[in-house]
Amino acid sequence: MADKDATARDTVQVLLPLPVPGPYDYHVPEGVEAPVGAIVRAPLGNRIVTGVVWGDEGPGVDRTRLRPIEGVWNVPPLKRSLLRFVTWVARYTVSAEGAVLRMVLRSREALEPPPGRRALRLAGAPPERITPQRQRVLSLMADGSTRPVGDLAAEAGVSVAVLKGLVETGSLEPVLMPQAPVYAPPDPGAPGPRLRADQRTAAASLASTLDGNTFEPTLLEGVTGSGKTEVYFDAIARVLATGRQVLVLLPEIALSAQFLNRFEERFRAPPAIWHSDVPRSRRHPVWRGAATGDVRIVVGARSALFLPFQDLGLIVVDEEHDSSYKQEDGVCYHARDMAIVRAHLESIPIILCSATPSIESLVNVDRGRFRRVELKARHAGALLPGIRTVDMTTAGIARDSWLSGPLVRAMTARLEAGEQTLLFLNRRGYAPLTLCRACGHRFSCPDCTAWLVEHRYLARLQCHHCGRWIPRPQTCPDCGQSDCLVACGPGVERLDEEVARRFPDARREVMTSDTLAGPHAVADLVRRIESGGLDILIGTQIAAKGHHFPLLTLVGVVDADLGLHGGDPRAMERTWQLLHQVAGRAGREERPGEAFLQTWDPAHPVMHALQTGARDAFIEREKREREKGGVPPYGRLAAVIVSGTREGDVRSLARFLARKAPSTADIRTFGPAPAPLAILRGRHRWRLLVKASAEAPLQRALRMWLDPVRLTGDLRLQIDVDPQSFM
Ligand code: ADP
Ligand code: ZN
Ligand code: ZN
Repeated sequence: MADKDATARDTVQVLLPLPVPGPYDYHVPEGVEAPVGAIVRAPLGNRIVTGVVWGDEGPGVDRTRLRPIEGVWNVPPLKRSLLRFVTWVARYTVSAEGAVLRMVLRSREALEPPPGRRALRLAGAPPERITPQRQRVLSLMADGSTRPVGDLAAEAGVSVAVLKGLVETGSLEPVLMPQAPVYAPPDPGAPGPRLRADQRTAAASLASTLDGNTFEPTLLEGVTGSGKTEVYFDAIARVLATGRQVLVLLPEIALSAQFLNRFEERFRAPPAIWHSDVPRSRRHPVWRGAATGDVRIVVGARSALFLPFQDLGLIVVDEEHDSSYKQEDGVCYHARDMAIVRAHLESIPIILCSATPSIESLVNVDRGRFRRVELKARHAGALLPGIRTVDMTTAGIARDSWLSGPLVRAMTARLEAGEQTLLFLNRRGYAPLTLCRACGHRFSCPDCTAWLVEHRYLARLQCHHCGRWIPRPQTCPDCGQSDCLVACGPGVERLDEEVARRFPDARREVMTSDTLAGPHAVADLVRRIESGGLDILIGTQIAAKGHHFPLLTLVGVVDADLGLHGGDPRAMERTWQLLHQVAGRAGREERPGEAFLQTWDPAHPVMHALQTGARDAFIEREKREREKGGVPPYGRLAAVIVSGTREGDVRSLARFLARKAPSTADIRTFGPAPAPLAILRGRHRWRLLVKASAEAPLQRALRMWLDPVRLTGDLRLQIDVDPQSFM
């Protein structure tokens, strides 16, 4: 036995961040400490790869053939809870553990020691030759301190050469001083606003979940502007005060300047930020700081969930219903759901926050899995906007016009009152389709099943799936006629033309991801709107999310039906959430707001629910429908997408998979069929959909079915458990 213990330590399993089935065995050279979780360098073929010690020796290892690990990175070992999280996510998403580990190890440079500052201290031996400069240095250093080279030279009024000389004589010795911390710690004691009575009750209720080490999910629900953010700030302050770390997930962090400012005001320091647009050089101190505990709070996009926190005490998922939490490629995971798993494995509380919670979370409340904390009032007595529908079937709209009479009249009144209007249309560009009046030719992307969208400001036709574009043509490529191309349907740019025509004196701006170059542009525009430098804002959903515009009192939804079509089981829920959020942009301060929904189907349950405010009835209806259909959260779905450049190969693999597909009493497979987005970036796509009961062993069935598949050529197989997109 003793012998076995001794040998177990010199052999370890190392998981490499690669899509391979499991960890590999390595030899640990004498004198090297490589505990479970240690991040090590290990040889693989003729390269050195960074991996993580996953466990002790695996079974049946031929120890004579093991290669030694090359070294251990000088960072704290990953915690067991994080290793379990990696395993859990891999099982759930039917991915390789190494593919999930790669999301943890995304910041290679973070493993290098941070560059220190060169500094000097007294070494003892006085120099044989004393000059006045040397004397000044030595008297300064007589206090026994360590001073950075630059500081010392400046303070003593000497050149660096003088200091070098003193190092050579052995009078001073060089040392490395740690870099000043990259992130100033937040101040949890800084006072926040005085909470209203209902906010205090909510905060107290949350606070009761924060003491101790227990997994405790809470849904914090309240209409936009009800002060949810202030309430979870209170919870964050409490956790920071105990010395633990906090993770806040936001869906669109690049657009969240307002939030980050608010955070900084409240906690007297900006949070560490983590998302893919943050330059690598600024990301790796965050990774390292999370691992060492120096970074106390991270505000991040979904990938922040895989940071190696040393002592995480709380996770907040803001806008928990937002579909951008779903990662659609590589490892397909839903960051909200995986955040709940991480909180569970860390035994910590988690707060899910939304004005329009997902059906999934509401059902979890019904089932007693989540606590629910609700804020009912809007702050400072602001009223929820009155929502009315405009029936487009009878509105008598002129050609090339998209705004109905009632909406235009309301806009005019706002202009006269010095108030602002938001026109919402979730379509970038000028027109979604361009066709030839002479021959009917439609411009589509050569690489995708999609029309090219005209962007008039850029004079281009562009594919919104792959980004490919052509200059806006003058003649039809099919029949050669000129002056025959017509734009069909509106995008925000075309709407802008109509607004300019109708309100020539109004100050207007288009707000989309195309027109705004980066977070600064967003922040600038947001400031302009806040300060009243604008009358009419025309925007896509980036204008709809999270912002707080005090002068905005009218919202016009130009095409409320836009998201309702297609085979997405969540289409109604999503449309309801989006339109509710958009309408919520109106009237956030003392001026009452109003929202108009232009729809071709005013009797549609979504429009009806929005207009009458019958939210609960709508949600109950949604739940019933989903339960009847056996779709999430009452049943489970997994999508399998086969893709490749050769359609025949894709089709045959999809058909082959269908023949082998799981088919039991509680797991059924539908398809294969070409995906609605049948070609994407030149790759043909076929889909299968697996539908399972809530209790069925879905992942096991998927593994048994798909693990043995060997892909040839450029065929790819993507497994998407709990798909959010059905394109
Ligand atoms: P939500 O997150 O629910 O949309 P916010 O927390 O953003 O709501 O609050 C809406 C507005 O009201 C913000 O400008 C916020 O600063 C302000 N606010 C909320 N609660 C208070 C409070 N107790 N005292 C002062 N201002 C508050
Ligand atoms: Zn033509
Ligand atoms: Zn394309």
